[in-house]
Amino acid sequence: MRKPKVGIFGLTGCGGCQLEILNLEDQLLDLVNAIEIVHFTEAITEYSDNYEIAIVEGSISTMHEIERIKKIGDIAGTIVAIGACAVSGGLNCLKNLYGLEKAKELVYRDKKKLIDSIEVKPVDEYVKVDYYARGCPPNRFEIVDIIRSLIVGKKPEIPNYPVCIECKRNGNTCVYELGITCLGPISRAGCNSRCPNSVSGCEACRGVIDDPNINAQKDLLKEYGLTVEDILKEFNLYNACRGKTIEQKNK
Ligand code: SF4
Ligand code: SF4
Ligand code: SF4
Repeated sequence: MRKPKVGIFGLTGCGGCQLEILNLEDQLLDLVNAIEIVHFTEAITEYSDNYEIAIVEGSISTMHEIERIKKIGDIAGTIVAIGACAVSGGLNCLKNLYGLEKAKELVYRDKKKLIDSIEVKPVDEYVKVDYYARGCPPNRFEIVDIIRSLIVGKKPEIPNYPVCIECKRNGNTCVYELGITCLGPISRAGCNSRCPNSVSGCEACRGVIDDPNINAQKDLLKEYGLTVEDILKEFNLYNACRGKTIEQKNK
């Protein structure tokens, strides 16, 4: 069977999503047997414009990146956005909260007119994205699952239930009992409750579930005198570009 050609690209991000792919170890070998990687910003020096699937890390924060993502979109038949930066704008969107001019002033001072810096947006503001691997960093096994699903032509399974379900399954003590705020009751699972497992509150790096207002975990918030609206106010760290609307994805 002919292997699909895949390009893996990095836009504005820290490179951590691409590292997750490199950290796959044994599964990376399986992946390399199933696909042909023709471009991988973090891993290979060769560059090819001949690919069918583009895996994109990072948000769009420069005019140059708009050109790059549009070119990628023109070439690739399928685009997979990996990581919070690509999916929702991620941490980079905190820049937008300052306002572009103020942010440039703070960082670049008198050089600000020379710098190519625009309002941060997620990848799908410029091209159609077919699949999303959420999280900061994303779950590397979810990336593999999405690629495998693409190869066999089936829809990947992306959880649409809250992190609390995984957290309880893992037998954790709820961090609210320790006075720590946690967005687990509204955040999309799939990370195996990574943060509460280490006694930290969830910050919703995977976005929120489709309808946080109807899920059973509201009772847990009620126990601590909170509502869904109260904790949605905490939702800016990874989702300042979009807030709730990010959750219309992966349906
Ligand atoms: S999503 Fe997180 S790990 Fe990935 S590029 Fe952005 S900051 Fe880095
Ligand atoms: S609120 Fe957070 S710590 Fe508590 S059960 Fe839910 S995910 Fe776990
Ligand atoms: S617990 Fe929340 S913030 Fe932590 S990895 Fe999972 S979704 Fe992201």
